[in-house]
Amino acid sequence: MVMELLAAGTEKLGLKLGERELGLFQTYYEELIDWNQRMNLTAIIEYDKVQINHFLDSLTVVSAWKPSTNRPNAKVIDIGTGAGVPGIPLKIAYPQIKLSLMDSTNKKITFLNHLKQKLGLDDIEIINGRAEELGHQIYRESYDLVLARGLAPMPTLAELTIPFCKIAGKFVAYKKGDIKEEMNLAKRAISTMGGKLIDIKPVLMTEFPDNRVLVIIEKIAPTPEQYPRGSGLPVKRPLS
Ligand code: SAH
Repeated sequence: MVMELLAAGTEKLGLKLGERELGLFQTYYEELIDWNQRMNLTAIIEYDKVQINHFLDSLTVVSAWKPSTNRPNAKVIDIGTGAGVPGIPLKIAYPQIKLSLMDSTNKKITFLNHLKQKLGLDDIEIINGRAEELGHQIYRESYDLVLARGLAPMPTLAELTIPFCKIAGKFVAYKKGDIKEEMNLAKRAISTMGGKLIDIKPVLMTEFPDNRVLVIIEKIAPTPEQYPRGSGLPVKRPLS
């Protein structure tokens, strides 16, 4: 059997992956490793570690958000997706979601286009650009769920992501370790963007001994026109 660790882990999340899904994850793994020899996509390449730290970790979001049965085609965006995580694993588990993958690095986009074709998944839009600019375009306030892993510290992250969220939509950030101070610093940025902190949910699984959490934010008000700021300002001068 392929992807055994992933299958065991997802079962604990209440997610049953069938042969089709596990096969797609296997293909994803093989493509990732192959392309990683020619471009820097990931430092994690070992079979077991990719299953846990990329695929299972991505899917822990189901403890905070799932597409509802009466609206399975929810719109989801993964900002700063890199090699496709967490967006692609969620799309494999829930094939009916409409997924956008956004990244500012050209070579990552090349890989994602290839991967999309290999996996044969529909309804994946791959967007090359910076969140600071794209957050003012058609993508603004149009997603039910916004995801980001490894993109930026929370004050910057809030400005780069919450503008993409619909009102009543959610933003879920993947974090680890003690994030108290980071969350304190982000209070102003979150509320300025129209967000409200709902929960910081610990990921309690033996696979993750490093205090992973999901920061869950709901969008309760529109993001003011001037955000996100341009020219690298969210990174250089985070709101505080
Ligand atoms: N989400 C992936 C990759 C994290 S690395 C993972 O968890 O493994 C951060 C990624 O964000 C990089 O691929 C980088 O190209 C992209 N990125 C950085 N700043 C960005 C911005 N302002 N807008 C869009 N993408 C950005």
